[in-house]
Amino acid sequence: MKFYQEGDHGKALCTHCKKPVTTTFLRRDVPFSDGKGMAKAILVGVCDTCSQVVSIPAQSTPAIRDARQKELIAIDANLPAVYIDMLDMAIHTIDQSGSSQMRKVILAFFFNRLARDTAAKALLQLAHKDAQDRFMEPRGVCRRRLSMKVSPRIANDLNALINNTHMNQTELLKSVIYQIQNDVVASPDPALLKELGELSAIIS
Ligand SMILES: [Zn+2]
Repeated sequence: MKFYQEGDHGKALCTHCKKPVTTTFLRRDVPFSDGKGMAKAILVGVCDTCSQVVSIPAQSTPAIRDARQKELIAIDANLPAVYIDMLDMAIHTIDQSGSSQMRKVILAFFFNRLARDTAAKALLQLAHKDAQDRFMEPRGVCRRRLSMKVSPRIANDLNALINNTHMNQTELLKSVIYQIQNDVVASPDPALLKELGELSAIIS
């Protein structure tokens, strides 16, 4: 893999000129493939004949991903207060100096882990049932708001879980939080606690 600087030359197939062309590496604003927003001042290979962007060197891909991650998606839920307490108890168990900033991190971690787990549907449905049995929700139960902004990648994991379990967002969040309290507080897995502890140390 080659490292490029501005002004370097290369070769690429240009889809516009429909032939192999020589290119020059220049900084350009590159639109994302879905057309929503762009990554600024990215080093790209530009066709010497038609000036179209024809190649993106490997070194430019993290910046394009970074910029994409900045387009955050809001997740808002109004949960019975006991679930926020459970989440905060898990944070305290992971790191005694952990702040509520860690809520998003631990949820994102579990969304990603569960989205890749073929047993997630059964696991979350069981967690949902246990949580409903254990924490009754009488009319007027105290609720607290869970608000966070997440990257499209995390929102995709959450949506995959919602589709997979056929729960709405609120019920899915309750199930995931109950699973978190199970894996972190009730029957903790040392390897998991270590991994989450490292994440907490980075953000705190
Ligand atoms: Zn061209």
